[in-house]
Amino acid sequence: VAKQKGKNCYHLFDFESEDAIKLRNEVLHNISCAIELNEFVLYYQPKVNMRTGQIIGVEALIRWQHPSRGLLPPFEFLPFVENHHLSVEIGEWVIEEALTQLARWKKAGLDLPISVNIGALQIQQANFTNRLEKLLRAYPEIDPQNLQIEILETSEIGDVNNVSQTINNCLKLGVSFAIDDFGTGYSSLTYLRRLPVDLIKIDQTFIRDMLVDAEDKAIVMGIIGLANSFDRKVIAEGVETIAHGTALLKLGCETAQGYGIAKPMPADQLPEWAKNWTTDQAWQIS
Ligand code: C2E
Ligand code: MG
Ligand code: MG
Ligand code: MG
Repeated sequence: VAKQKGKNCYHLFDFESEDAIKLRNEVLHNISCAIELNEFVLYYQPKVNMRTGQIIGVEALIRWQHPSRGLLPPFEFLPFVENHHLSVEIGEWVIEEALTQLARWKKAGLDLPISVNIGALQIQQANFTNRLEKLLRAYPEIDPQNLQIEILETSEIGDVNNVSQTINNCLKLGVSFAIDDFGTGYSSLTYLRRLPVDLIKIDQTFIRDMLVDAEDKAIVMGIIGLANSFDRKVIAEGVETIAHGTALLKLGCETAQGYGIAKPMPADQLPEWAKNWTTDQAWQIS
């Protein structure tokens, strides 16, 4: 295509793509070092029942504590590892770190389920179940029920049957599954029908404008209805205000996470947050 557009264009195209490849390789190299140097950290965002105030768990969200650039959010580095084996390595690190954190909290008397985000590539690895089983066996004190896996709905699931089988095998280990960013992918309804997940996470883009945009509100209502019909739990992401929470409660969605409840925080801040939340700050909207 570039060649047809003439000499200059060809050179420009060629130069840019070479540059992009170089940059990508450099970033991949740095990410691989970052794994070795243990520069990744997990932040945790609480999920609560807005009616009862109960904290039902936390979502682990990866950050890169970069030595010179500071704390980097996932969009700064995860896109580079998409469809690369490093994404699998990161995914394994995330699961292991979450299990380590569950063990730490258990010692401290805090019993909170953690959910981790897993890309489609990782879950489609042939040995995913075995690796997970191995990791769980290394933490015998952890109840596998306290680990939930969020599958990114936007990521391409090549073979739904295969993924469904993998999930079924993992369910036998005691872990549970959620579909993340529900409604944003190409195959939401197929995944809902075919994947044995017990939780659906309503994507925050629908929540954000649901108070002012009737169509977004209709989508939120529809997803809650679907979840009920399919006997799945449902949680709203990106709940930023009490008004959002109140509206969601009216629509029959009781659980939520979002900046209006708490931003993702380092693990060591969670116990203090949990203490204050249950004693002083429970929303108790109804
Ligand atoms: P996600 O799994 O849907 O996570 C929710 C994202 O929304 C998080 O961004 C969270 O900080 C942000 N968020 C939560 N509440 C609010 C809110 O009220 N308002 C707004 N505007 N944003 C809110 P974060 O941590 O930057 O993560 C972005 C995405 O990166 C995640 O979306 C997930 O897809 C991916 N990701 C994060 N950690 C991991 C990981 O360990 N592994 C993989 N494969 N992907 C991850
Ligand atoms: Mg998630
Ligand atoms: Mg999400
Ligand atoms: Mg997302």
